[in-house]
Amino acid sequence: MCRHLGYVGSETAVGELLTRGPHSLRTQAWAPREMRGGGTINADGFGVAWWRVVEATSSAAADTAAVEAAANDRAGAQDLTAGRGDTSGRGGVPDSGAGAGLVVSRYRNSDPIWTDPAVEEVLPQLKSGAVLASIRSATVGMPVERAACAPFVGGRWAFSHNGVVPQWRRVVTAVSADLDTAATQWGATRLFQTAHLLEAESATDSAALWVLLGDLLDSAGPGGFVASPGAALALLATTVLQHVADARLNFLLGDGEQLWATTVHHALSALVTEEFAILSSEPYDDDPRWQPIPDRCVITARPGHLSVEPLARAGAPAGAP
Ligand code: GLN
Repeated sequence: MCRHLGYVGSETAVGELLTRGPHSLRTQAWAPREMRGGGTINADGFGVAWWRVVEATSSAAADTAAVEAAANDRAGAQDLTAGRGDTSGRGGVPDSGAGAGLVVSRYRNSDPIWTDPAVEEVLPQLKSGAVLASIRSATVGMPVERAACAPFVGGRWAFSHNGVVPQWRRVVTAVSADLDTAATQWGATRLFQTAHLLEAESATDSAALWVLLGDLLDSAGPGGFVASPGAALALLATTVLQHVADARLNFLLGDGEQLWATTVHHALSALVTEEFAILSSEPYDDDPRWQPIPDRCVITARPGHLSVEPLARAGAPAGAP
């Protein structure tokens, strides 16, 4: 179910990452190797987010994003959302601090990735030092529409979910309540409100999880409710699993400088060198440096750094015994 890929490193062509290698993300759309029972092909759309460095003021970021959006409209892009100028979804998610001046944009299409000429004609013209891409196989019962295609973006974050939350409406609501209880005990009132779930861009498990994750990221960092973005992913995954043990929760999160991910059921591999870091559902080539990531882990990756930690250990809120 779904495949995703994140890249952080030296500047590269955004579109090229979608077609790189004999087993590229685009090829994985129609010929995936490791679906692990979660569907057969990924034909329900795709999306890609990339980051650009702009002046570290929100008005400059919004201006740049507006110019970029206009340029891409002319180029025929079907959806391009600028993080800071965005008024939809999690557009209000604040910056995480370090590296202010990065702004995220995205392109999405609900058609199969192999049918979209923009992948070869437009997206390779964009250059970025960070990319997060996803191809979708819609879970049965969930809408096939552009708004359901990851990445979901807000602030400087981009997020993808490969998997499924059975009975997601009930479970996500219960998870929101659990997180609110834990945050209140920790000392932050009304961090999580069920009403926030109405902000979900689409009626899917992934879009709803992104709303909860946005609230967690609001309070991530030293002294926060969760210590880091990786801890936020881990806490979200472990809280979901408490309600539905067979949930599949491969998350992928980027902020333009680092990648964080979880593995719960689905495949993930890492290719990390001093120059770049890539996390991908499936290796796109036979480079011997690809490392398969074990199940039930939380991962942090950036050039020259890969950490893999058991999910259970990382999934506790700050201050928990
Ligand atoms: N459940 C999510 C959706 O329908 C993710 C699907 C997947 O991983 N195949 O969008």
